[in-house]
Amino acid sequence: MPWNELEVGLKAEPNCIMIKRDFSALAKESYDLIIVGGGIIGTGIARDAAMRGIKTLLLEKEDFAYGTTSRSSRLIHGGLRYLRQLELGLVRQDMREREVLLHIAPHLVHPLPFIIPIARPMDHLALPMGMLLYDIISFDKSLPSCHRLSRRETLDREPGLESKGLAGSYLYYDCQAPFVERLCIENVLSATQHGALVLNHAEVIGLLRSGNGVCGE
Ligand SMILES: Cc1cc2nc3c(=O)[nH]c(=O)nc-3n(C[C@H](O)[C@H](O)[C@H](O)COP(=O)(O)OP(=O)(O)OC[C@H]3O[C@@H](n4cnc5c(N)ncnc54)[C@H](O)[C@@H]3O)c2cc1C
Repeated sequence: MPWNELEVGLKAEPNCIMIKRDFSALAKESYDLIIVGGGIIGTGIARDAAMRGIKTLLLEKEDFAYGTTSRSSRLIHGGLRYLRQLELGLVRQDMREREVLLHIAPHLVHPLPFIIPIARPMDHLALPMGMLLYDIISFDKSLPSCHRLSRRETLDREPGLESKGLAGSYLYYDCQAPFVERLCIENVLSATQHGALVLNHAEVIGLLRSGNGVCGE
């Protein structure tokens, strides 16, 4: 069977989702939205758009999640770091998106505890204020609130920390998607299920234009 006619899926499963590598559909069909790149952003957009009834095509030149997506720290952070720049809207948006992911992909997105040591004089003021602000902005989060640990509790949890000057720490939770490639694949499957055409190993080398539209790639 030629590689472009391969079907991916378990045929024995009655409800399994089939990804048909139907290159001929590219010439026959027209699309409302063409996404170039099958990383976490492209596959997420494809899923979202297809679920809204937008006729969607996604083209990825390598395999899904081949790019930056597979080389990241895989954190789904709730925007704590944007507090420093006082980007409060962005903190709230990140936190909401983290909640969405926790809700739709609880098997792939897991809480991850972080400890921020209180060691410098400025930490005594900046950290409690920052943590309080973060908890207020993320008041409806499902993860535990920030929590102050004593010096002893901190060292019990993290014995490798430099103890000199350590006054304690703050414990807070973010999330991580250790298998982010799988998150991409599940986006692809869901997009396909909702009618999108998604093709990997399909590089876009240019756009053929006709009037105001794109008629080929
Ligand atoms: C070290 C590191 C840590 C990070 N940590 C975090 C983090 O904790 N939290 C966070 O939210 N973000 C983090 N990021 C950023 C995050 O990884 C990126 O923002 C995200 O992965 C970008 O996804 P993307 O889908 O836009 O890009 P990519 O994953 O790079 O996808 C782009 C895709 O487009 C394809 N492509 C390119 N040209 C073509 C073409 N002509 N035709 C077809 N396909 C094409 C590529 O093959 C690639 O697969 C981190 C990034 C790095 C490097």
